[in-house]
Amino acid sequence: MDFHPVIETFEQMEQTSSRLALTDYLVALFKKTPADIIDKVTYLIQGKLYPDYEGIELGIAEKMVIRAIASSSGKDASQIEQLYRQTGDLGDAAGEAMKSKSQSTLFSESMTVERVYSTFDRIARTAGGGSQEIKLRLISSLLNDATAPEGRYIIKFVMGQLRLGIADYSVLDALALAFTGDKANRKALENAYNVSSDLGTVARLLATEGLAAVQSVQITLFKPIRPMLAERATSAEDAIARMEGKAAVEYKLDGERVQVHKGKDRVELFSRRLEKITGHYPDVIKSVKSIKHEVILEGEVVAINPQTDEYLPFQELMHRRRKHGVEEAMENYPVVMNFFDILYMDGKSKTSLAYEERRKLLKKILQTAKDGKVRLVEQTVASTPEEVEKFMATAIENGCEGVMIKLPSSTYRAGAREYAWVKLKREYRSDLADTLDLVIVGALHGRGRRAGKYGALLLAAYDVKSDMFRSVTKVGTGFTDVHLEQFYKDLEKHVISHRHARVDTGMEMDVWFEPKIVIEVIASEITLSPSHTAAKNMLRPGYGLALRFPKFTGKIRDDKKPEDATSIDEVVTMYKRQLKIAGSVKVEEG
Ligand code: ATP
Repeated sequence: MDFHPVIETFEQMEQTSSRLALTDYLVALFKKTPADIIDKVTYLIQGKLYPDYEGIELGIAEKMVIRAIASSSGKDASQIEQLYRQTGDLGDAAGEAMKSKSQSTLFSESMTVERVYSTFDRIARTAGGGSQEIKLRLISSLLNDATAPEGRYIIKFVMGQLRLGIADYSVLDALALAFTGDKANRKALENAYNVSSDLGTVARLLATEGLAAVQSVQITLFKPIRPMLAERATSAEDAIARMEGKAAVEYKLDGERVQVHKGKDRVELFSRRLEKITGHYPDVIKSVKSIKHEVILEGEVVAINPQTDEYLPFQELMHRRRKHGVEEAMENYPVVMNFFDILYMDGKSKTSLAYEERRKLLKKILQTAKDGKVRLVEQTVASTPEEVEKFMATAIENGCEGVMIKLPSSTYRAGAREYAWVKLKREYRSDLADTLDLVIVGALHGRGRRAGKYGALLLAAYDVKSDMFRSVTKVGTGFTDVHLEQFYKDLEKHVISHRHARVDTGMEMDVWFEPKIVIEVIASEITLSPSHTAAKNMLRPGYGLALRFPKFTGKIRDDKKPEDATSIDEVVTMYKRQLKIAGSVKVEEG
C-alpha cells in the first residue's frame, strides 16, 4: 500500500479541531487499507510498531536522526539543528529541510507502508555495538526516497512525537464503522481488546476473518488483560449497602498494581497501563517462578520495611522504577507482592468464576510458592459496616490506604469499573473525600519567580461517552521548583499549535498540549462554573463543574493513560455526594 494515504490522514488529523472528524478520517483510511496490513497501519497511527506490552522502542539517538536528515537533505547538521531550534520539533525541521531537496525519481524506491514499517522494525531490532550507525543508515535509506511531508512524519514517528492523540476507543469505533458499518459492534471489539490489549491483532482479525472471529478471542498467556476497576464508596454503610448482605473486604495496599503472567519457564510483569515492567522486580519474579502452574495473577507490589514487615508508602516504591541499578535498588528497597486475583490457570480462563472461587484457587496456588515475597492479600468477610470499619482501622494501622470491598459472587470483568469492587479510602485532609487524576491539556506562562516555566496548568477530566477531555480546573499550587522544571521538560514533547481536537474548554491558554500526562490533585470542593466544561449543562444550563482551591499532590500518575483519568461521571458523583453531605450537616445544625 502506498504510504501517501497514511500521510494524508495524519495531516488531516493533525489539523482538525473536531473530535468527530478524527474518527471519520480513520474510517476512510481503514477502508483503503488492505486487510493483511491493517494491523501495521493500526499500530502506526498510534505512533507504535507493536502493542505497548511488547515494550519495543526504536531507540535511536537524536544526533543520529539529525545526521540522517542532514545527509539526505544535502544540508549541514548545524543547519538542521538551527531549524530544530526554530520549530521545536525535529519532524518539522526535517520537513522544512527536505523542501528544497531535489527529488531523484530515477533511482528511488517507492514509499510503501510495508517498506516504512519494516524499516522501522529493523531499526527497533538492531542492538549492540555499532547499532546506532546501522539505525542511521536505515533512516537515511527512507529519507533519501521520501518527499518533504513523508520525511516530516517519518522523523516525527522515529522521535515518538506523532502527537495525533487518538484513543484506543476511537480506533475501535472507526474499525467497527469501517468493517461492519455499525458502531454498535464496537462492544464486541472492545471485549476482544480488553482480554488481549492488542488493537492491531483485533483489527486484523476483523478485517480478515470477520466479527465472529473477534468474538471468540480468549485470554492468552503473555498478552495482558485490561484490569477490572473499582467504584468509590463514601462510607462503610454505603459500601455494604452495595453488596448482597455479605462482602469480602481486602487490604487496599498503596503500591503498584502488577499483572503477572507465568508460563512454564517464562515470567512477564505488566503495569496498570499494561506496559511490560518485567525488569523492575527480579526478586518478585524469582518467587513467582516457584509457583507450580501456568497462571495469570494480579496483585499489588508494595515496599516494606524488612525489619518490622510494615508496608511503606507508594513513594518508597518509586525507587524501584528504573532501568539501571536494579540490583542495588532491590537491596535498598525490598518489596512484597500481595496477590488479590487469579485470571487464568493452565490453559483456561478463570474470569467467569465467582470472586469466592477465584480466591480459594489463588490461595491454593500460592501455597505452592516457596518464599515470603509473594503473599495472598489480607482479607476478611463482613456483613455489617462496623465489621468493615474495624478491618479498615487494622489495614490503615498496617500502612494501607484503606480497603477494597468485593462482591463475593462477582466475576472478573476486564476493563470494567463497577460496584462489584468498591474502594473505601481513609479520609483525606481535603474536604473532598478523594483525589482526582486529571490530564494536563494547556498551560499559562509563568511570571516572576516562575518566568520561563509554566505558572498554571489547565486540567481536564475524561468524558467516556464522547471520548473528550473537558476542563475542570487550573492548578498552580503544590508544585516545587523541581516539579516546575520537570513539567516544563516533559510537556515540551506534547506541545501543539492549537487546542487539541479532543479537548473542550472555555479557557484561553498560552500553550496547548496533546492530552498525555495525568497528575493527581486534591481540592477543597467542586462548584458550578461558567468557564469549565466538565459536566456542562448536566446540572445547570450553561454551567460546568470546577474544582475550588486545587492543589497538586506531587504524584504524577504515569501508571495511567489519559483515558484512565477521573471521568466526568465520577466528578458529577463527587459533586452530588458533597451536596448531600453539606445538606445533612445543615439538617443537623438546624
Ligand atoms: P483506579 O485504579 O480505580 O482507576 P487508582 O489507580 O487511582 O484508580 P485507586 O483509586 O487507589 O487507584 O484504587 C484502585 C487500585 O487499588 C487498583 O488499581 C490497585 O492498584 C490498588 N489495590 C490495592 N489493593 C487492592 C486490592 N486488594 N484489590 C484490588 N486493587 C487493589
